[in-house]
Amino acid sequence: MFADVSFPISSFQVFTYKIPKKLIKNVSVGSTINAPLGNRMVSGIIVSCYIERKFSGKIKEITSIEEGKPILDDSLWRLINWLSTYYDTPIGLAAKAVLPSQLSTNYEPKKQSFAKISSLNDEKKIKGEKQLKVYKFLKSQNSPVPFSELKRFSLNPSTICKSLEDKKLIDIIKKPVIPNIYDTSFESTPKTISLTEDQKSAISTICSSLDKNRFDPFLLHGVTGSGKTEVFIEAAKHALSNNKSVVVLLPEISTTPQIAGRFRSVFGDTVAVWHSKLSKSSRGWIWKKICEGEFKIIVGARSAIFTPLKNIGLIIVDEEQENAYKQTSSSPRYHAKEVSLMRGKINNSTVILSSATPSIESFFNYKNKKFKYLELPKRYGKVKLPHVHLVDMIAENKEADNYNTIFSKLMLEKISDRIKKNQQVILLHNRRGFAPILRCDDCGEISKCRHCQLSLTFHKIDNMLKCHFCNFTKPPANKCSVCSSFNARLSGTGTQKIEDELKKVFPNVTIDRLDLDAAPTANKLFNTLNRFSNNEISILIGTQMIAKGLDFANATLVGIINADTGLFLPDFRSGEKVFQLIYQAAGRAGRGALPGEVVVQTYNPENEIIKDAVNYDLVGYYEKCLKERSDLNYPPYSWLVRMEIRGKNKNEVARSIEILNRNIPSLPNGIEKLGPSPCYREKLKDLYRMQIVLKSNKKYDTTGSIVHNIFKKAIKNTKFRKTGIGSKLIVDVNPTSLL
Ligand code: ADP
Ligand code: ZN
Ligand code: ZN
Repeated sequence: MFADVSFPISSFQVFTYKIPKKLIKNVSVGSTINAPLGNRMVSGIIVSCYIERKFSGKIKEITSIEEGKPILDDSLWRLINWLSTYYDTPIGLAAKAVLPSQLSTNYEPKKQSFAKISSLNDEKKIKGEKQLKVYKFLKSQNSPVPFSELKRFSLNPSTICKSLEDKKLIDIIKKPVIPNIYDTSFESTPKTISLTEDQKSAISTICSSLDKNRFDPFLLHGVTGSGKTEVFIEAAKHALSNNKSVVVLLPEISTTPQIAGRFRSVFGDTVAVWHSKLSKSSRGWIWKKICEGEFKIIVGARSAIFTPLKNIGLIIVDEEQENAYKQTSSSPRYHAKEVSLMRGKINNSTVILSSATPSIESFFNYKNKKFKYLELPKRYGKVKLPHVHLVDMIAENKEADNYNTIFSKLMLEKISDRIKKNQQVILLHNRRGFAPILRCDDCGEISKCRHCQLSLTFHKIDNMLKCHFCNFTKPPANKCSVCSSFNARLSGTGTQKIEDELKKVFPNVTIDRLDLDAAPTANKLFNTLNRFSNNEISILIGTQMIAKGLDFANATLVGIINADTGLFLPDFRSGEKVFQLIYQAAGRAGRGALPGEVVVQTYNPENEIIKDAVNYDLVGYYEKCLKERSDLNYPPYSWLVRMEIRGKNKNEVARSIEILNRNIPSLPNGIEKLGPSPCYREKLKDLYRMQIVLKSNKKYDTTGSIVHNIFKKAIKNTKFRKTGIGSKLIVDVNPTSLL
């Protein structure tokens, strides 16, 4: 017997091995095995098995079966194959996304030692003060005591206990430490829920879909605070009662604790949380238990869609418009929403894409009847959507005779009002750090990252300039590198500056900040959210991290410091993103009994996107946006494929992209090519970047197969090895952004 094996390397080549007799019974297509590749032992996946030898060269043998990988069922194997074809990724790499090498079904939690008094005890044998103390203490305890607790008697309790054990005075017991897998979900007390008519109708449609056991995609469009989560919970109950399992995807780790907490309060220990900030031991433990079928509901980030849950009946993608669902840093560059739809198709599951602000694509798909539509048009409990005030900052600046005004008069008035009433405020500003630019006043030179050629952000808290793209850090120079002037000036505003300025205005108010700098770890993040939820913080400043999904009843004012952030980025999705952020952030206000208000500051009060967002005119904006996309032939009217070459040497990169370009033939009707051109961010992390984008009109290319054929052929015909040292090709199918 022979097998072709794909390895997690960037080459599409499969390698042929002989299957040794002793393994024949235990391997099949989809098995993870170890085999020699070059002079290393590498773990790979079997893509085909056959009897007749096809390859005439020297054939090595498979060494062993990789321990601790579950047997892939047919549905996961099909998913891996789809990932590989659709995102143009070698099977070995696609398999690694589904079966990460660090995870194993053999995971054993660390063991902790305990000491317990034994039945035979002859105290005369005890030697020394420390032994006696430990012994007496243990004698006074009813249950085994962890060694760590004995540290107060001796720095090294294990030696003491060992010698007491040798004298048969005590027993040492080792117990596995089960990681606390729920430290990332909030306690949530079950509420009395009486479903609204809209909720009931959505739920009954979903339940009858679940009963049919077939692929059924829905768009659940519910305004902020309309009770979408309650719909998820009811749908999950129904799936479980049909003996099916459930995946709930969330885009942002900040929303996990609340939503996971709500699921836990209903479903208890059958719920597992899955995201990148889990400790290694929790990940190992949870994954093993998923393989063993112990969990029925997984609530987690994008990679949760790959967990080997059995019998998936329901997949929910919450805040489905979020770009965080796209893997951008490694292959396969998948979108968890696309994977969800495919996994749903393979497993005959119901798939719910949910949002208050659906992506333009999903909105389009519902209009075109590809998705069924469920609507929750009203907030739960007769609560109105908060009233929005739009503030023209140009007029504000003129009036104040200060062109650096951060807070408008109205914003400050509303904040003071809430403080007086003991209510809470959320301030959104989508830029971290203190000031995004440090500029020389004399020659205009801007401090840039030497690895990315992009402006460095000043961080006041550690008095450093930081690159937000590669994390390069340096202290601000005391004179200009070009003209030696000492006059440098900070410009622009980040969250740290907002915090500083606000603390000057409200010195006696508790103000806190949530962004990547303030919450580098999950614990820090959850701690701040918890304190906000317990009313220990009055004003919470934050980036997009706090704009979505959170539900705090006492937060009655949301302020958006600068609604224009991102508005003019040269990307076809920038308008959509700004609209969604404003609409979503507004939705954080007034979710409980108290009415909410929103203050939105802008320098572009006449801008259509901003106007539509503050008027909650979603359909109006989406229609306009669709018209624009159609005119310019962008998604959802076209397929996009972005091919990027990255490398250390600028000329090599230019040459490589030119060779790739030459391999793209004259294009058929309906396909356009943009580039080759330098990327918007031309250099990142010391690598120069150039790209070619193919846009293929869906009228001519309904399934995308035409454009797929073209780019795959072009890549195949380009011998990158010969084109340059270290230039790398990146293929992004359905990119979320072209920047
Ligand atoms: P969304 O996810 O649509 O923004 P949520 O599901 O968070 O909204 O609901 C908003 C608030 O209303 C939550 O506190 C939720 O518990 C409450 N809620 C929603 N539906 C009901 C219901 N039928 N009965 C009681 N409370 C509800
Ligand atoms: Zn200068
Ligand atoms: Zn950088």
